[in-house]
Amino acid sequence: MAATTIQPAVKNFIGGQFDRNGQKEMNVISPLDGSIISTLPLSSFEDVDKAVQAAKKAFPDWSGQTLKERVQVFYKYRSLLEKHIDELTELVHLENGKTHSESRAEVLKSIELCEFAVSMPQIVTNEVQEVSRGVECRIERKPLGVVASITPFNFPNMVPHWTVPNALVLGNCMVLKPSELVPLSAMRMAELLKEAGLPDGVFNVVNGGKEVVESLCDHPDIKAVSFVGSTRVAKIVYRRSTSNLQRCVALGGAKNHLLVLPDANPEMTASDVVASMSGCAGQRCMAAAVMVGVDAVQHIIDRMVVEAKKIVTGDNLGSVISKEAKERIEGYITEAEQQGAKILVDGRNASIPGKEGGFYVGPTIIDHVKPDMKIAKEEVFGPVISIIRAKDLDEAISIENSSNYGNAAAVFTQSGGLAKRVMEKASAGMIGVNIGVPVPREPFSFGGWNESKFGVGDITGRSSIEFWTQNKKTTTKWNPEDKTNWMS
Ligand code: NAD
Repeated sequence: MAATTIQPAVKNFIGGQFDRNGQKEMNVISPLDGSIISTLPLSSFEDVDKAVQAAKKAFPDWSGQTLKERVQVFYKYRSLLEKHIDELTELVHLENGKTHSESRAEVLKSIELCEFAVSMPQIVTNEVQEVSRGVECRIERKPLGVVASITPFNFPNMVPHWTVPNALVLGNCMVLKPSELVPLSAMRMAELLKEAGLPDGVFNVVNGGKEVVESLCDHPDIKAVSFVGSTRVAKIVYRRSTSNLQRCVALGGAKNHLLVLPDANPEMTASDVVASMSGCAGQRCMAAAVMVGVDAVQHIIDRMVVEAKKIVTGDNLGSVISKEAKERIEGYITEAEQQGAKILVDGRNASIPGKEGGFYVGPTIIDHVKPDMKIAKEEVFGPVISIIRAKDLDEAISIENSSNYGNAAAVFTQSGGLAKRVMEKASAGMIGVNIGVPVPREPFSFGGWNESKFGVGDITGRSSIEFWTQNKKTTTKWNPEDKTNWMS
C-alpha cells in the first residue's frame, strides 16, 4: 500500500453500524509524506449520546452472559488480528508513521492483550466464605455499565487494546474515542470485532476532537472513563470526569530518566539507551528522555554516538506525527543549544528523498544539559535524549526525583546493590534495571506515578480488573433450624 493511497472516509461505529451524517470534518494526514489519506467526522454531543444509547441497550444481554461466554468473541477476534496482521501493520505505519517492524510489534502486543483478556475466567473467580455457622458471604465482580476510552496518537492499535478487551470481557459496553490524528486502526478494529461476533452496541467508536472528550466526561450514563494522552489533557479529563462523579483513570505524559553508572556494560547500555530514545521516533511514553550519566561514563556516551549514527532516518526511524511536532522538537533542540548544551548528534532538518512532505527528525543526542533547562524538564516526545552529568548516584537520583512526571525510570549498572537503591528511590511507576523500555507485560499492570497518572490503579493487567468492575457482596443464610448463629 503506497503512502498516498486514499483510505475510506472515517465513520463512527454505533450500534454495529458505520455512521456519518453531515458532521464537520477534518483531514487525516499521513506523516510519512504529508499526504491526505482520509477525512474524519468531528462529532458532537448528539453523536456521543447516540453511541451511549446503543451501548445502554446492549448492556443487559451482554452483561447477562457468563464470563466464559463473553471471552469466546475475543478468541475469534485474536485469530482475526493474526490473520490480518500485515494489513493492520500497514495501517499503523500509514497513519502514525512508525516503521513497519514497530507497527507489527504494536499489533503483536494487541494480540498479547487479547490473550490476557481471554484468561479472565481463570483469574476472576469470586470469593465465598462461611462467615458464621450456616451464613455465607460471597463477593462477585460486576460490570459498571457503559464506559469510555479516550486514546492518543502514538499507538493507534495497541492503546485501544489496553482497555477494550478487558472492559468488554468483564461485561461493560464501551464508547471509544480514538485520536483524531490516527482514526483508521480503530475503525478496522470495529469491523473485526463485528466479524468476531461481538453483539451490536457493545463496542462503539465516536470520532472527533475535544468536544467528543468533553461529551464523554459530561454524559450522565457513562460510569467510567479511561484516558491516555498528555498530562495537560489528562488533568482536564480527570477533573471533568470525576466532577461528574465518574470513575476515572487518566494516564499522562512522561519524562523518563535513565541513570547510567560507569560500571554498566558499555555495548548493551549504549545500544539500549539509543533504542529507547529513538524507537517509535521517541514518541513512546516509555522512551528515554534524559540520561543521567554518573561520574566517568564518557566511553558509553561515545558508543551511543556511534549507535545513533547507524540509524537511517526514514528507514529504521519513522516520522514524527505532524509538522507541528517536528517544529516543536526542533525548537527544543535549538533552545538547548543556545543555552550552552552540546549537540553530539543532530537530527534537525531531516528530509527523506521522495517523501519531502513528511515529518522527520533524526536521532539527536545532546550533552551537558543542565537540570533547569526547558529540554530537561518538559516532554519533548521526539527521538532526542538529553544527557545530564551527575557526580554520584545520590545526585542522579535527586535529578530523577525532581521531575513532575514519573512514568518510568531505569538504571544501567552491573552492581546489584546500586540497582536496588535506584529501584527503591526512583519516583516512577515502572522501573528498569538494564532495560531501557521497562514495559510490564501481562499480567503485570501498566501505569506511572506523579503527573504521569491520575486516579487509582493501573490501566492494564490485574489492576484493570478493579477499574472495570464493582464488587457485589451477598450474605445468605440457609439454616433456619440452627439458632446458634447471630446474623438475623
Ligand atoms: P493528547 O493529550 O493531545 O490527546 C489525547 C486525546 O485527548 C486525543 O483523543 C485528543 O483528541 C484528546 N484531546 C486533545 N486535546 C484535548 C482537550 N483540550 N480537551 C479534551 N480532549 C482533548 O495526546 P497525544 O498527543 O495524542 O499523545 C501523546 C501524549 O500521550 C504524550 O504526552 C505521551 O506521553 C502520552 N502517552 C502516555 C501514555 C501513558 O501510558 N502514560 C501512553 C501513551 C501516550
